[in-house]
Amino acid sequence: MNNQKNLHAKLNSHMELNEIQAYIKNVIEIRGFGNQPVEQAMLLLIEEVGELAKAIRKEKTNMCIDKNKIKNYDTVEGEIADVFIVLTSVCNLLNINLYDVFYEKEKINVERNWKNDNKNNE
Ligand SMILES: [Mg+2]
Repeated sequence: MNNQKNLHAKLNSHMELNEIQAYIKNVIEIRGFGNQPVEQAMLLLIEEVGELAKAIRKEKTNMCIDKNKIKNYDTVEGEIADVFIVLTSVCNLLNINLYDVFYEKEKINVERNWKNDNKNNE
C-alpha cells in the first residue's frame, strides 16, 4: 500500500480537526503541492468554490445547464470535500490551526445579533 493509502486507512469519523488538518498536510506534500505558494492555493480554492456552485446549480436548482457536459461535473458532496481540502491547505501554508481560528471566530459570532428583520428567527 502506498503512503497516501496508508494515511487514508487511518482516517475515521472520530478524528479531531487537528488530526484531519495534519492528514491533509501530509497527503498534499506526498502529491507534490507542499511548497505551493499560498497565492496558487487561493486560486485553487476559488476554482473549487466555483465547482461547488456549479454542482449545486446542477443538482439543487432548476437552472439551465449544458446537458452535454453534465457528466464532467462532480457531485455537491465531492466539491464540498474539495473546498474543505484546499481551504485546509491554505491554512497549512499560512501555519494557521483551523480549529483554533474556528473556535476564536465562533466566540465572536455567538455574541453577535443574527436577527433578520424579514424573518422571525431569533
Ligand atoms: Mg472539484
